[in-house]
Formats: sequence, C-alpha cells, structure tokens
Amino acid sequence: MDFAATANEIRAGNKPSFDDSLAYAQSLDRADPLAPLRSDYLFPTKASIKSKTLTRHHHVDGTAGLNSAADANANANANDPDDEPVLYFCGNSLGLQSKTTRSSIYAQLDTWHALGVNGHFTDPDGSPLVNWQDMSADCARKSVALVGAKDAAEIVYMNTLTVNIHMLLAAFYKPTAARSKIILEWKPFPSDYYAISSHVQWHGRDPAHELVEIWPHGEHADPASLYISTDQILATIDAHAHDAALLLLPGIQYYSGQLFDMATITEYAHARGLVVGWDLAHAAGNVDLRLHDWNVDFAMWCTYKYINAGPGAIAGAFVHERHGHVEWSAAPASSSHPGPDPQDQPSEPVPVFRPRLSGWYGGDKSVRFLMAKQFQPTPGAAGFQAGNPSALDLAALSGSLDMFARAGFPNLRNKSLVLTAYAEHMLHRILADEHANNDTPAFTIVTPPNPAERGAQLSVLLRHGLLDKVQALFAEKGIICDKRKPDVIRVAPVPMYNSFEDVWRFMHALREAVGIPAKSG
Ligand SMILES: *Cc1c(COP(=O)(O)O)cnc(C)c1O
Repeated sequence: MDFAATANEIRAGNKPSFDDSLAYAQSLDRADPLAPLRSDYLFPTKASIKSKTLTRHHHVDGTAGLNSAADANANANANDPDDEPVLYFCGNSLGLQSKTTRSSIYAQLDTWHALGVNGHFTDPDGSPLVNWQDMSADCARKSVALVGAKDAAEIVYMNTLTVNIHMLLAAFYKPTAARSKIILEWKPFPSDYYAISSHVQWHGRDPAHELVEIWPHGEHADPASLYISTDQILATIDAHAHDAALLLLPGIQYYSGQLFDMATITEYAHARGLVVGWDLAHAAGNVDLRLHDWNVDFAMWCTYKYINAGPGAIAGAFVHERHGHVEWSAAPASSSHPGPDPQDQPSEPVPVFRPRLSGWYGGDKSVRFLMAKQFQPTPGAAGFQAGNPSALDLAALSGSLDMFARAGFPNLRNKSLVLTAYAEHMLHRILADEHANNDTPAFTIVTPPNPAERGAQLSVLLRHGLLDKVQALFAEKGIICDKRKPDVIRVAPVPMYNSFEDVWRFMHALREAVGIPAKSG
C-alpha cells in the first residue's frame, strides 16, 4: 500500500477496501514507512500494569535495558505472555513515553548537575537541549508547522492547559454592556467549563445568563446523534452577533471525536465581531492545523495527549501576531497601561501592549534580569508567560517534538487517516456479523464518518450493559482504552506508535467481548 495515495483517496471521500485477516494487517505494517518509530516508544507490559512494585531503570542515559514494544516482541520470553506489550489505545488521554523523550530528560538532569545555575545561559556541546532561558522558544520553533503558526513568535509553552485558558481569557474576554456572552458547546471538558464560568463570575456576571451552549440536537437531527453541524454553529453565531463577545470551542470535541471546521467558523465569527479561541487538547499533534492562516485570535493545548510529553507536561498557547505587538509611546501612560510615575520621568517612552496577567518571564529577555518595575513584554506569545517554566518539563517536550520532526507530520496524518479508516472498517465488520434479529446493534460509532470531521479517535457507544463486559475482557487481555461511563469507549489508534496489527488484535478482543464471532474464516 502507498500510504500517501490511500490517504488522499480517503480525503477525497472514498473508503479504501481492506481485508479482514491478521496476515493482511501485518502486511500493512510492513508497507508502513513510519512503522520503525514504534521501536522508540516504551509500552507498559501486561506484567507491569498488574505489578504493585515498580521496576526501576537506573542507567545513566536512562534508556539502556528498556524494552520498547519492538524489542519486547523480539525478545520476550515466548513462554511468558505477560512480558508482551499491552495494546495501548489511550494516546488521546496520555501518549506513551519515547526513548528520545526519556534521554532528553536525562540530558537536562546532567545539565543541571554539571552547570547549576549557569544552565540558564549555557548551551553545552553534545546536549540535544538549549539553555533553560531559550527552551520555551526552542520548543515553539519546533512547533511552528505542527500548529500552523506564522513563526515561533506566535507560540509559547507555559503552565498547563487549564491555566492557559485562564491566562488567555484574562487577555481576550472583554465583556461590554452590549457584548458579554461566550459561545461554547454543550459538553465542554469540565475544566474548560469551570474556567470559562469562573471568568464570567470574576467579571461580576452570571454564567446562567452569559454562556451560550451549542447542543447537538439541531432541528432535524437524530436525538441520539452527538454531531454538531457547521451550519448550526454559524446560526448560533448569527443569533448572538449582537451580544456575544467571544467564541471558545474545542478543535476536536473530546467525547464525540468530532473535528470542527475551524477556518470557516473563525472567519464567520470574526465577521460578526467576536473574538475566537480554540482549545486544541485533542487536535494538536493529531490533525492539520493552520492557526495563523485561519486568523485564530488565541488557542491553547496540552502536550501529554498526542504530543507524548508526559503526564501533566507543560502546555502550549498560540497568540496571533496582531495581538502580540509591543509598541513604544512617548505620550503619558494611559490608565490601562500604567507606566513609570510621569512626575519622575516625564518624557520616558513606555511600552504599549495588550493587557494580560503578567510576570517576569513574559518580560523581554534583554531586560528581564534588570529587575525594573516597568514591565516590558517580549513581543509575541512569549510575552504572555508569567513565571519561570520547568526546564525538566521543557526537556520532555523537546524530545517529544523531535519525534514529530523525525516522522514528518504530513506522514503521520497520512498514516492516521488510513489507520482510523481501517479501525472503522473492522468495527463495521463486527456489526455486519451480528445477527440481524437484534434491534439495537452492539454499538454505534458516534464519531463522524467523514474523515475531514475527525482525527485519530473513534468514539464507540456500546449497547447499554456491555461496557462492564468489555472492561473486564480488556483488563484480562491487557488492553488499555479509555472508557466514559455510562457507555462510551474512545478508541485512539495513534500513528506514531500503533500498528495495524494492534488494531486487528483490539478488534478481535472487542468482538469477543460483545459476543459476535466472525462469520467467515
Ligand atoms: C485534557 C483536557 C484538559 C485538561 O486540562 P489540564 O489543565 O491539562 O489538566 C482540558 N481541556 C480539554 C478539552 C482536554 O481535552
């Protein structure tokens, strides 16, 4: 199979024909140019997830003696199936650790050991990392293509995702008497909902009045559907073109897996005077993003899902260049931009910039250590930082982003389109073998069938009562997959490290769990 050609077929709306056998899945893995990446990732084993005792790997470079899935497949004691890697379909929740990420963290520990405080300014030869001062900018540089920024100045790594929602709402949510509402969707990730509601309250307003939720039950929609059409979103924007200040949606809805048309929605909302932000937690590292060209005002994402930087790793933020300018004014400082006391320094120019929640790491590097009272932000997104970011966190992120450079994001997305289409095909095969006398099928796929409206994830709504069976069998077989009570599993085949054989084995187990044996051999 030519993955790029097949991906283009899928993009054009054609479903490729896949075979159902294990041998066929293995042949796709042999044809997959990205298959070697898998050997860089460290999979839990069936034994390690059950064990109550941690096995520690005390090696100087942190990687010796560790088995990746490929090593484990090659080396595992054939008699002990517990040494096999688990089937990991949870990269939409926490991506796996790569050896590259691991050795970046060790390099940072060595830098700290060797240089102490001088690590802030020194670029040691032989290190994959730059000095601590420049690490966030270096990670921004490595992310330009990943999020479609104009350049690194539109990106900053700082804080965690929820904190970045707060920081950016502080800078971008400016309710006025006429326009104060925020448009969001019906089922935001709870943290987003709490953050948004709290900003409304912080402005002395009532979320019950200010939040406009877009529900999936459009006029003619199937009540069971979770799909929200672009038309419905545009109609909501129209209905609130006079009283909404801001629209904040997820690029991909975490529960349904629906990918929204960010370009169209952003342009439409801008034309009606709204500020537009996107939460890219499930989109970054998963689907194509062109934030600058789409003219997005701001966006933020975590890096521990598809970007694989580790649990709770430092988060990303995008601020469009038009909002990041720092200009100099000789005029007396306005009340919203307090400058030095005009009596002391009557003609001193002051920096003029979009007000934000500031701290010294948002301050320009050239003057950061002068410890002046006048805040002078770094132009661009970096000026929205507050405190000193964790160099260990940034090391993990740096290594994780190196894996994207190695893979080439277009190659990852091509594989992802094929891998998810294959998973969808295998799900349909299970349903096709179900006895037709059952009114309610064993499951329905609630993620849109249109590949332009989804990323890697397929959300599968099980017939009520089946989740416990699936959960029990997955636990027994060492399959890790996200469940959302009452009835949804969110299956994410990740192109960076999942194989077609993984998908085949997963589907084989799901078949067994829902009690639908294969009809043909
Ligand atoms: C994963 C996720 C979060 C988590 O936020 P943290 O601050 O990283 O804990 C928030 N919002 C969305 C949409 C998510 O998918």
